[in-house]
Amino acid sequence: MSSGTCPGCLSDVSIRTILWGLPTEQPDPDVYVTGGCCIEEDMPEMQCITCDWQGSLAEVEHATRMRRFIWTGEDLPGMIFHKKFRITHEVLTALEASQVWQSTVSFKSMFTAESIFGPEGKLRWLWNSSWDTEDAMRSDLYTNMGGGVPVEILEELIRLIID
Ligand SMILES: [Zn+2]
Repeated sequence: MSSGTCPGCLSDVSIRTILWGLPTEQPDPDVYVTGGCCIEEDMPEMQCITCDWQGSLAEVEHATRMRRFIWTGEDLPGMIFHKKFRITHEVLTALEASQVWQSTVSFKSMFTAESIFGPEGKLRWLWNSSWDTEDAMRSDLYTNMGGGVPVEILEELIRLIID
């Protein structure tokens, strides 16, 4: 389970919560690092075990959100993204929860969003794709009549990825 994206090196598996003070038990190394026993002002909450970045949870959450888009042209100091739009588990969860999905009764009885667009889904080549522009993404999603996926679902998916 990923704990977020490192704002320093973009690793998705290296962020740990810093435990300050002296823990009574050995903390789970997949979740925590120990920060020492001194309590000071403005102590960082999070640390990256790959690049030693330290900072706040808010910064990690920001990087995690930005990770979905990858390079929006915004000025994001220290963040270099190589991809832009892509499908994520979060997007697919939101797609299934959407009114559009819920209203396609026959479709949703046969498929889950993951079974179509997920890493093992029938259109998994889309999962493995990323796009620099909305047009490029739309063009791929509509390839081969959208793989039989209703247009309104494709449009909702695009909306969720961009949002
Ligand atoms: Zn890092």
